[in-house]
Amino acid sequence: MAARLGGRGGCTVGVALVCLLMAHGAAAQTTTPPDAIEKLVVRLEQAMAAGDRAALIGLAVKDTDASTLDEFAAAAGEKPTRVVIKERDRQSLEGNKRQLLLEVFVERGIEGQLATWRLDLRPPAPKDNPDDWRIERIEPVSNVSGLYRLALNTTKQYDVRNLSLTGTDLSVDLPSGIAFVAEIPDGPTGIVLLGRGRLRFAPPDEAEHTQLRIFGGADDLSGEFDAAFVRIRPSEFESKFKAESLVTRPVAAAELRRGQEVFDEFIGRTLQLDLTDLSRDRWSLVPSAGDLIVEVRTRRFGTLTYARSGNEAEDVTVFDRRRRRNISIYASASKMATRGRYYSEDDLVDYDVLAYDIDAAISPDRYFINGTATLRVKVRSAAMTTMTLKLAEALTVRGVYAPGAGRLLHLRVVNQNNLIVNLPNAVFRDNEFTISVIYSGRLEPSEMDREAIDLSELLPQEGRQAPERDVVTIPLEPRYIYSNNSYWYPQSTVSDYALSTLRLTVPNEFDVVASGTLTAPPRAAQNVPAGQRPSRTFVFQNDRPVRYLSCVISRFNQVTSSSMNVRASAGSFGDLRVNAPGTNEVFRAQSAGTPVAEAPAPAADTGDGERTLMLTVKANPRQVGRARSLAEQSNTILQFYSSVVGEAPYPGFTLAVTENEVPGGHSPAYFAVLHQVLPNTPVAWRSDPVNFDGYPQFYIAHELAHQWWGQAVGWKNYHEQWISEGFAQYFAALYAEKQLGHGVFDSVLRQMRRSAIDMSPQGPVYLGYRLGHIRGERQVFRALVYNKAAMVLHMLRRLVGEDQFFWGLRRFYSEWRFKKAGTDDFRAAMEATSGRNLAPFFDAWIHGAGIPRLGFSYRTPDANSIVVRFEHRGDAVPVPITVTVSYMNGETDEFIVPVTEKVAEKTLPLKPKAGAIRKVEANEDNGALVEIERAGS
Ligand SMILES: [Zn+2]
Repeated sequence: MAARLGGRGGCTVGVALVCLLMAHGAAAQTTTPPDAIEKLVVRLEQAMAAGDRAALIGLAVKDTDASTLDEFAAAAGEKPTRVVIKERDRQSLEGNKRQLLLEVFVERGIEGQLATWRLDLRPPAPKDNPDDWRIERIEPVSNVSGLYRLALNTTKQYDVRNLSLTGTDLSVDLPSGIAFVAEIPDGPTGIVLLGRGRLRFAPPDEAEHTQLRIFGGADDLSGEFDAAFVRIRPSEFESKFKAESLVTRPVAAAELRRGQEVFDEFIGRTLQLDLTDLSRDRWSLVPSAGDLIVEVRTRRFGTLTYARSGNEAEDVTVFDRRRRRNISIYASASKMATRGRYYSEDDLVDYDVLAYDIDAAISPDRYFINGTATLRVKVRSAAMTTMTLKLAEALTVRGVYAPGAGRLLHLRVVNQNNLIVNLPNAVFRDNEFTISVIYSGRLEPSEMDREAIDLSELLPQEGRQAPERDVVTIPLEPRYIYSNNSYWYPQSTVSDYALSTLRLTVPNEFDVVASGTLTAPPRAAQNVPAGQRPSRTFVFQNDRPVRYLSCVISRFNQVTSSSMNVRASAGSFGDLRVNAPGTNEVFRAQSAGTPVAEAPAPAADTGDGERTLMLTVKANPRQVGRARSLAEQSNTILQFYSSVVGEAPYPGFTLAVTENEVPGGHSPAYFAVLHQVLPNTPVAWRSDPVNFDGYPQFYIAHELAHQWWGQAVGWKNYHEQWISEGFAQYFAALYAEKQLGHGVFDSVLRQMRRSAIDMSPQGPVYLGYRLGHIRGERQVFRALVYNKAAMVLHMLRRLVGEDQFFWGLRRFYSEWRFKKAGTDDFRAAMEATSGRNLAPFFDAWIHGAGIPRLGFSYRTPDANSIVVRFEHRGDAVPVPITVTVSYMNGETDEFIVPVTEKVAEKTLPLKPKAGAIRKVEANEDNGALVEIERAGS
C-alpha cells in the first residue's frame, strides 16, 4: 500500500474532484485539422480570457439563457492571467446538434480554478457559414477551486527561537535555525525549517509500538533532522507557530538557496496535482482544517512523512519515503472517540454494486482483454455526482455509457488504477442506476493476494543462485489468473458482495474456471474477427453474492463432476466430540489416542439441512492422476466443513489443479486454484510456517475452507483478515484432527504454536498485512495471520467449551454470511453462545502481541486428587491450558484448566487404580500460546 497522502479511491466527493484534477482527459478528439466546433472552443477561450462578454454572447444563439453565459464569463473573473479550455467529450444530439463537455482552467495570479461545463451546440443553417455553430445552452457540471501555484516568499526570512510544533502524537523541536514560508492570500501554508532539530513521534497504541520497534528499535520514533517542510491550513498558522519563535530578519542569499532546495524537494510530494494539458505548472491544494503534513529529513531514517488527515478511517500515518512503506497507520484518540474501535472500509464508499455483468474476450497468451462491463449500482451516500471505480491502468477505457444518458465523461487518474465517471446528474441515496464500461488492453495476469497461500517470494531471485546441476526443470503448464488484485474488470474500490454473470471468450485450446456456475457447455464464439483464432464462450452465473470475480485460464482436462450431498450436523458438529453443557469450566479433553472418527455418513439418511453441491475437478493434463485423489479429498473436506458450519455457501465448487514451483493456492468464491509442485523443482519452501510436513492435504484443506471464511463471510478492513486466513487455517487443522488422527493434528498444533510464538513480537494479529510489511517478510504474515489466529480459535474453543464454540461459529456464520465481519462481530456471536465476556480474550490475543509466561506447579493433598497452580508472570491473559497426568502404569489423563485470572488453582481427580503419578505436564499438547516455567512441586 502506498502512502495515502493524495487521497484514494472510494473517496468523498471532494476528494473525488481532486482526483479528477489529476486526470488526463480521455477525450474522443478527432485527429483532423480543427473543425468548426474546435474553432468555436478556441473563440470561447479567447472571449473568456479577454473578459469579453459581448464576444461571448456573440457565440450563442439569441434565446440562450444570458444568466448562464454571465456565470460562464464570471468564472474567469475580472482579469484572468490565463484561460485554458479543453474539449473532453462530444456527442451527437437530435437535429444534428452536438453536446460538448469542456474543462475550463482559469489562472489568476497564483490561484487556479478548474470547472467542467456542458454545452449544447446548434449547427449552422444551410445558408449560413458552415463554421457558424452556436451555443444553445450552457451549464456548469462541477467546479474545484483552491488550487495554488506555491512558491517560497523570497523576501521573508525568520530566525527560529525555541520553535516547537506539535501534531497528534508528534512533536518537532528546533531550538535555533531559520525558516521560510510559502503563502497564499490567507497566510502561510508551507513552512521550510532549517537547522538541527529533533522529531519525536509517540503513538499511544501498543500495536504501533511493535512496528516502531521493528523500524527504529524503540517504542517511539525519535531522531535528529536538518531540514523539515510543513504544510498546514493558513488559518492554523498562528496557533501552530508561536509568534515569538519566528523572528523576522533580512534575507541571506545563501540561506534562501538552501531553503529553496528543501522547498523544491518536498513541495511536489503531497497535495500535488497534475493538470497535464491544462497546465504544466505545479498546482497544490491547501490542507483541510486540522490536517497537518510534516516531511522531515533525518540522518538515521532518511525522509519520513508524517500526515494527519481527518477524513481517513485511520487518520495518522508515518511513511518511509526511501523504502515506500507504511511504518505507522492508526486512528488517533479523537478519531477513535468519533468512530469507535472498529470500522468498515465500506464507510468510505458512496455506492454499492449490486450486480456485475462482464462480457470479455481474453487472449491469455497475449495478455489481452477486450471487455464490456455493466454494473447495477445503488447509491449509499446522500448524493452522488461522480463515481470512482477501480480498473487496471493498463486497460484503456473506450467508453462509459448509461442508459438514457448516452456517453458519460470519464477520466483516468495518473499512476492509479482509478476510473472516475461523472454522472449526468446527481443520484440520491437508495436510488439505483446502471452504467456500462467498454475497455480493452494488455493486462498481465497476477498471482494471488487474498484468500491465497503464495510462497513465491521463496523462489530464488534471478541470478542470485546458480541452478543445481542434474536437475531437469520441466516447463510448467501455463495458467493465467485474473483475480482480486489485478482489477481486470471495472469494480468497486473495495471488495463488495454482488451477483454476477461472466461471459468469457477464450481461444479454443483453453478452458476457463471462474466465479459462478457454468450455465451450459461452452459454445463457439460469435463474431470472431477474420484472422483470429477460433474461440469458445463460457458463461458463469452466480446467484449468491461474491466478493470479487476471478477466473483461471489454462489447458484443463475434466477429471470429475458430480453432485454431492452436504448436510448440517445437528449438534454433533461432524462427529467432533462435544461435551455436555455446563462442564466447560474444567472438562476432560479428548484423551490421546482417540480413534479417528468415521467420515460423515452419506447425507441421504438425514432430512434437515441437506443440500446439493456440484463438485467439479479439472486439472492440467499432467495432473489428472493426482487430481483424482484430490477429488476424493475435496469431497470429504467439503462434507466435513458443511457439517460443522451447517451448510455450504455456494451451490457449486470447482477445483482447478495447476502446476507451480511452490505449493499454494487461491480460493475465490465457487472455485479454488491448487498448485501442484512438479518433481525436482529446485526450491526450498519446507521451512515456511504454513508448510506442514506430514500433512500434504493441508493446502487443499485450507483453500476449501475459504469458501466459508473469506468468501461467504468477508472482512471489514485489513485488520480483520484473520477472519479469512485464521479461520481457513483452523478449519484445515480441524480437518486434520478429525480425519487424519492425533499424530497429524498434534504436529500441526506444535508448528503453529512455535511459529506464532517466534513471530509474535512482530505485532498483533490485528495489524493484518502490516505484519512483516516494514521488512518485506511475508512469512511473518503467515505465522501470525494464519497460524497465530488459528491458535487463537483453538484456545477459544477450549476456553468456552466444544458446544459453545461450534454453536458460536455457526451463529457467526449465519449472521455474517455474504457480509463483511469484524473481530467485534465474532466476539458478539461467541459471547452470545458462551454467556461470557470475551473482551479480555480478544484484547489479549487479537489486539495484543504478548506471549504470556506462566509459572506452573502442583501438589497432591491426598491420594484422590491433585491441585495444579498457574500464575501469570505478567498481566493476566485468559488462556486454557492442558494438564497431562501420567501414571506409572502407563495410563494418562488430560484436563483443560482455564486460567483467566492472575493465579488459577484447580483440584483435579486422580485415577484411583492407576497407581503413582509418573509426571504432570502443562501444555504438553501445544494447545496454548504460552511459555510454561516449571517450579518444583
Ligand atoms: Zn488462505
